[in-house]
Amino acid sequence: MSHVAYVNGRYLPQQQAFVHIEDRGYQFADAVYEVTCIWNGKPVDHAGHLARLRRSLAELRIPTPMTDAAMTAIMREIVRLNRIRMGAVYIQVGRGVAVRNHPFPLKQIKPSVVMTAKHGAGPAEAVAQAGVKVTVQPDIRWGRVDIKSVGLLPNALAKQAAVEAKAFEALLVREDGVVTEASASNAWLVTKDKTIVTHPGTNKILSGITRATVMKLAKQAGYTVQERTFTLDDVLAAKEVFLTGTTTFVLPVVQVDERMIANGAPGEMALNLRKAYLDYVNGLDDSAWSVKA
Ligand code: PMP
Repeated sequence: MSHVAYVNGRYLPQQQAFVHIEDRGYQFADAVYEVTCIWNGKPVDHAGHLARLRRSLAELRIPTPMTDAAMTAIMREIVRLNRIRMGAVYIQVGRGVAVRNHPFPLKQIKPSVVMTAKHGAGPAEAVAQAGVKVTVQPDIRWGRVDIKSVGLLPNALAKQAAVEAKAFEALLVREDGVVTEASASNAWLVTKDKTIVTHPGTNKILSGITRATVMKLAKQAGYTVQERTFTLDDVLAAKEVFLTGTTTFVLPVVQVDERMIANGAPGEMALNLRKAYLDYVNGLDDSAWSVKA
């Protein structure tokens, strides 16, 4: 069987894997998700993704559907059934099925759990080595983007704008001029004095699991990292710009619309961090399935 999905207790071929039309995830985007990269058959930052899933659920008062160990067992089975070596696992947990009505149902309902997998991890190395172009879009999202909710319409619109601009990503800029992050990745810059800067981990960004790992690797490499806000002008004046994410790893940005960053080549620090990240994921062994960070 290929393309097998887990849906509320059952492993099904994707063509037969459906959720109820009154699932609150479908009706209200009342659901959260996680995407974990599978690298050489091992999950990257598994414990971190599970912890963020628990946090997202708690913020929305959706009961945790199962233990981390049970979630891990399903993930391993999904990886096995779909024969994923390099790819990703998608987990979605929603409040559950109830007659359509805005408030939470009075009676406790069973959360919906869906898991799928896909082949292919990250952009090609040649793309990363060349660096990518980004475009710019207004950040029109809600005030709690720290919760990894499936309400991704503004992100999808921004990514579509990127595709139409022949760019890899869209940097999101708030009304006050602050660059928060990108449509599906966190944004970073390196200042002229070699300080690495990224938006603070507030309710205005999704605090990336890759962001946390890259921050650790940057500090290990002896780099200075500052969590502070920055503007589009700061991006355009930066020595280097890069993105991080589960499916992007560390990706140098060389162009913002028609403007080049520095000399238009990927920055040295971004490439060093990318290499450190690749060394880290290449070093994962079976203990990567441990649910303890
Ligand atoms: N911001 C947004 C809006 C995202 O969708 C993602 C990808 N999940 C990220 C940042 C990066 O987060 P992570 O490193 O956990 O994938």
